[in-house]
Amino acid sequence: MTARTVAGIGTVGFAGLGNMGLPMARNLLGAGFAVTGCDLQESRARAFAAAGGTVAATAAEAARGADAVLTMFPGGEDVRRAYLEAGGILDSAAAGALLLDCSTIDVAAAREVAAAAAERGFAMLDAPVSGGVAGAEAGTLTFMVGGDAAAFARAGPLFAAAGKNAIHAGAAGNGQAAKICNNMLLGVSMVGTAEAFLLAEKLGLTTQAFFDVAAVSSGQCWSVSQYCPLPGPVPASPANRGYAPGFAAALMLKDLRLARQAAEECGAATPLGAHAADIYEKMNAEGGGGEDFSAVVNLIRRLRS
Ligand code: NAD
Repeated sequence: MTARTVAGIGTVGFAGLGNMGLPMARNLLGAGFAVTGCDLQESRARAFAAAGGTVAATAAEAARGADAVLTMFPGGEDVRRAYLEAGGILDSAAAGALLLDCSTIDVAAAREVAAAAAERGFAMLDAPVSGGVAGAEAGTLTFMVGGDAAAFARAGPLFAAAGKNAIHAGAAGNGQAAKICNNMLLGVSMVGTAEAFLLAEKLGLTTQAFFDVAAVSSGQCWSVSQYCPLPGPVPASPANRGYAPGFAAALMLKDLRLARQAAEECGAATPLGAHAADIYEKMNAEGGGGEDFSAVVNLIRRLRS
C-alpha cells in the first residue's frame, strides 16, 4: 500500500510494541501511515514486521526522519530514558516532528520530558489511553491529551486511526493527570461496589436483587452497571469468566500508586484513593495481580469484619 499523508503526517516512528503498542501500530499501518517501529523484544518486532511495519533497532532509529513519533512504554523511567538520554529521541527526531507519549506515567516525568522537548523546539503531547488491549485492537481507545492546542490538532489523524475519542485536557502533563484521577475514582468505586454487594449478600439479598436496585438508584456507577464484580447480572463482566482481565489488578495498582505519588507531590488529600491503593497492594502481594481488578471482591470477602 502506498503510504498516505494526513495533515502533514505520513511517516510515523513507533517505539514500544507491547500488548497495547503492537495493535495501535497495526491500526496506524491499516490507516495507511508508513510506520517504523521497534521493541526490546524481538518477538514483538517480528509480529510488527509481519503486519507490514519496518523494524528499527532502537527508539531513536525509529524516530529518525519521521513526521510523528509515538511511544508506548511501561513506565516513566523508560520514557525519560528513551527521550532524554544522549542519542535518544530528542537527539534523533527530525526538526518539526510531533512527539506523542501514550504510556501511562507520572505527571512529573511527563512534564519534564515535554519541557525538554519544547526547549529543543519540538511539540510534544502526553496522550495516555483507556480502553485496554481490546480497545487497542479494535481501534476504539480514548486518548486523554496534554499539550498545546495546535499539536493536539496536528495529532488528530493519529488519534482517529488508533482510537475513538481524543480529549484535550489542557497543558503538558494534564493527559496523565486526567488518566490517574479517572482510574483512582474507578479503583475507589470498584472497592465500594464490592463492599456493597457483599454486605447486601450478608443481609440476605441476592446479587441480582441488589443489582436491580443499585443500577437504577443513586449508587449507580460504571463498576455496578457495566462491570459488576459478582457473576450474574452483567454477562460481559470478567466475574463471569473467572476474572480473566479485562483490566488487570496490577495495572490498577500501578495507576493508584501514580495517583498517590501525584497527590503527595501537589499536597492533595486522597484518603480513599490511598486506601484503595493499600487494598490493591494486598491483592498483588497475594498473587492476584494478573486477575481482573474486579476480583478485589474475593479479597474483601476473605477479610474479617
Ligand atoms: P507491555 O509491557 O506489554 O509493552 C511495553 C513494551 O515496551 C514492551 O514490549 C517492551 O519491550 C517495550 N519497551 C520498553 N522499553 C523500550 C525501549 N526503550 N525501546 C523499545 N521498546 C521498549 O505494556 P502494555 O500493556 O502495552 O502497556 C503500555 C503502557 O500502556 C503502560 O504505560 C500501561 O500502563 C499503559 N496502559 C496499558 C493498558 C493495558 O490494558 N495493557 C491499558 C491502558 C494503558
